Amino acid sequence: MPTPKQSRACLATTRVFPAELRPGLGVVALWLAALALMATACKKDVALEAMESDANGYLCLKCGVKLFTDRTVFIGPQCPKCQQETLMDVVGYECKKDHHLTIRPKRGDRQPLACEQCQGPLVNAMRSPREKDLKAWGAAKASS
Ligand SMILES: [Zn+2]
Ligand SMILES: [Zn+2]
Repeated sequence: MPTPKQSRACLATTRVFPAELRPGLGVVALWLAALALMATACKKDVALEAMESDANGYLCLKCGVKLFTDRTVFIGPQCPKCQQETLMDVVGYECKKDHHLTIRPKRGDRQPLACEQCQGPLVNAMRSPREKDLKAWGAAKASS
């Protein structure tokens, strides 16, 4: 059974505590917001840079035609050139040694994964090819 004196003390603590905490929380919240912003910015630089692209690349496993479309345009699996359903999405693998981007179909490719340029291994090197990479690879823009 608390004495009246003790409960008054308790009340005083609860009244004072939040008021003292509020500015502190405000600073913490600001910090968290800033950290979140920084984290998003970092992610954008690293992860998005690696996985986001401005284009989709395609390779026909039958006739070998290389195509690309805008990021929002998807074609396949029917190849616009040979009409076979063998048009595959492509992915890029960046060589750690010479930074050459090797572009390969996502599926249906049985060749061992190696850098086109130096034949080095491409481990954990997946990167979405961008429009300029696909153009350098020899892809033509698909007419939609
Ligand atoms: Zn084809
Ligand atoms: Zn290489």
